[in-house]
Amino acid sequence: MQFISPSLKSALLQLILLISFTDTTFSQNLITSRDKILNKFPVYPPDTTGIVKLKLSVESLIKMSIEEVIAEVPVASGINFVGCPHCNGGAQESGVLGWDPGMGDKVRCNFCSMVFPNDEYPNNRENVIIAPGGARQVYRYYEDPEGRQYFFEPHAWYERWSWIQSMAEKLATVWFITKENAYGDRAAAIAGRFAQVFPDYAVRYDYPNAPVKFFPADQKWPYEGLQPYRGAKWSWWGYMDIPAAILDVYDILQSGYDWKRMDKIISLQTDKLIARDLLRLGYEFTAANPETYSNMSPRVYREMVRAGRILEDTSIVNDGIKRFSEFFSRGFFADGWWKEGTTSYHNQTINGLKTVFEALSGYAGTIDRKGEGIENLDTMKELPLYRKALQISKEAILPNGRLIPINDTWGSSRIEMTDHTVSRLWPSLGNAAMGSGEGEDQIMLNINWSGNYGHSHYDNGSIILYAEGEELLSDIGYTHTKYRGWTTHTASHNTVVIDQLRQDAGTAEKPATGRLKFYNDTDAHVKAIDVDASPAYSIAKTYRRRLLMVHVGPGHDYIVDRFDVEGGKDHDWFLHGMCEQEGTLITSIPMDRSMETLIPEWGGKNMPKTQYDTDPRLYHAYSFLRDVKTGAASGLWTAMWRYNGAGLRTHIFSQPGTLVFRFRSPSIRPAGEDENKLDNFYHTGIMQRHSGKPSTFLSVHEPFRNDPWIKSVRLKGNILVIRYTLDGLAVEDRVKLIDGEIEVTSSAGWKYSSGTY
Ligand SMILES: [Zn+2]
Ligand SMILES: [Zn+2]
Repeated sequence: MQFISPSLKSALLQLILLISFTDTTFSQNLITSRDKILNKFPVYPPDTTGIVKLKLSVESLIKMSIEEVIAEVPVASGINFVGCPHCNGGAQESGVLGWDPGMGDKVRCNFCSMVFPNDEYPNNRENVIIAPGGARQVYRYYEDPEGRQYFFEPHAWYERWSWIQSMAEKLATVWFITKENAYGDRAAAIAGRFAQVFPDYAVRYDYPNAPVKFFPADQKWPYEGLQPYRGAKWSWWGYMDIPAAILDVYDILQSGYDWKRMDKIISLQTDKLIARDLLRLGYEFTAANPETYSNMSPRVYREMVRAGRILEDTSIVNDGIKRFSEFFSRGFFADGWWKEGTTSYHNQTINGLKTVFEALSGYAGTIDRKGEGIENLDTMKELPLYRKALQISKEAILPNGRLIPINDTWGSSRIEMTDHTVSRLWPSLGNAAMGSGEGEDQIMLNINWSGNYGHSHYDNGSIILYAEGEELLSDIGYTHTKYRGWTTHTASHNTVVIDQLRQDAGTAEKPATGRLKFYNDTDAHVKAIDVDASPAYSIAKTYRRRLLMVHVGPGHDYIVDRFDVEGGKDHDWFLHGMCEQEGTLITSIPMDRSMETLIPEWGGKNMPKTQYDTDPRLYHAYSFLRDVKTGAASGLWTAMWRYNGAGLRTHIFSQPGTLVFRFRSPSIRPAGEDENKLDNFYHTGIMQRHSGKPSTFLSVHEPFRNDPWIKSVRLKGNILVIRYTLDGLAVEDRVKLIDGEIEVTSSAGWKYSSGTY
């Protein structure tokens, strides 16, 4: 801070007082319409830091004539999802083909660098559209012999559409700071040009691995055969059809740009043209869709609020607020979880809601909702449900900061690591994360019985174990690659598959969720849970998992795991090890007989080509079990995984007649969403199959840092006896796990009893 002399300081203070005096007292009386605009806009002031960098980023447009800038605005709607016919890199045809300014209508593969179209992959088809305004739009594309479409040129339009909008925002911001017309003119011309061509933009269905469908540019919802928001006019998805970037441009330029400068370049009253034929039209197409209260909806509400405020139309603001205020009660479970039960989509939704509040910040209008005022928005922020939901974003994480990878949660997403772990129970969602420990000794055991509400996996009763600094038993989480069918299937989870079937999908009326029978996380040594997950399979009479997380000392924890299954014929108990590393797996019993496949007769043996190829009759999940080797087990045996820095030994009591298998299966996460790399990453798992009778799968999981530390695990009647040495002392824990009662007695001097439940 600079030193300012007292006299100068007081002079400055007077000046400031004078300015504010003038501002508040006289401007209202002497106001002209132009001053009014100057005061009001921008409603959302842009970030004005980094002017040098900003100027540099738009330098190429400043060198162009305004006519050349206008020519960069595509005259027809682009296509987003286009793959590479040459290398098939990436996933879901998204982000595969790149484009840079100067490439015109060509695109280049981000994976193999081939430029399209070319002689090998030429435009051999075309689709001609006559727009309502009479314009003739030609969509040329390449169709391969199997009928798959590649819209190279329209993808270049899409990329250019996206690029030129971001340029317009930057140009407007530089104008805002410098008031130099070279910047303002180009921003205004881009926005004005969009307003000229947007009414003729064809509505299209642009979706990964699906043929493109076009609908007339003046047809609002509904579109035959499409779900709400799947027909889009501005972006590829109807949820993004209010032109957000151009809203910003318009908002900024309204603070004093002289629109008359566009009279000869675009049209008379270009500002009104932008407001009517672009911004309002975008709103109208969006609002024509039925309200879905989905994870994308907060984005719509935010843009409605912003559009309404910038266009000075309270009915648009109110439309956004009304939907927004109804959203909470429709989208969240009572425990604060977003209904889809995935941490990624929970966070997306919460972050979306935060931006609606931001968009409303400073809004002084009133809303006409049965007389309720805008002040209700402040009380909405204090809604217990919203507060709980905000909290879940911070709590639903593994100790290494990774979002707990349940259902469609990205395994790559992380926030800060935690320094201590506590247990969480989310009963309405159907998930418990039992945890304890500090620093390197943090442990977390997650089990879910969350049913299916969109973005779910068929994974009831599945566990994730984090210990010794690693995710020793993983759930793969989300992917858009062609192996998605594996990641959502029951078999890729640490749970039990009945008769090689996927768990039931469930419906809103009969959700395939579960019942929590017992839960206790209050004891220092034993955390316990008992879950009846039988609704997951209608053929299951029993499908019940009981877990005890036993803490015997810092960094020394073991898990007693009992899974009871009755109903159906084959019960396949899976344990998959770690997703991040393949490691080595050693079993105490021989498994050396190779097997060609475990796919049942009715299961499909095809390999999927896209993420949508998931029907087990065509693409059975067991086709992902590779290098299968088998043996027989009876009684106690162990499986031990060793990884860099940590390991897991599981003590397994197999019932007589149990077949055991080891296999390699895709771990997917390390492939980083590149389908060409999927087969480079495997992890090693085991499965035990017990057939024809009710099954009890009893096991003890022993995480370790360098070497295993449990001396022995034995079963004496229905008492599990676990022996180990702790601080030089031999200790024996006796675990009783019977119906409705859990008891652990340790010779170290502690005892846990659930009582009967
Ligand atoms: Zn390629
Ligand atoms: Zn999963």
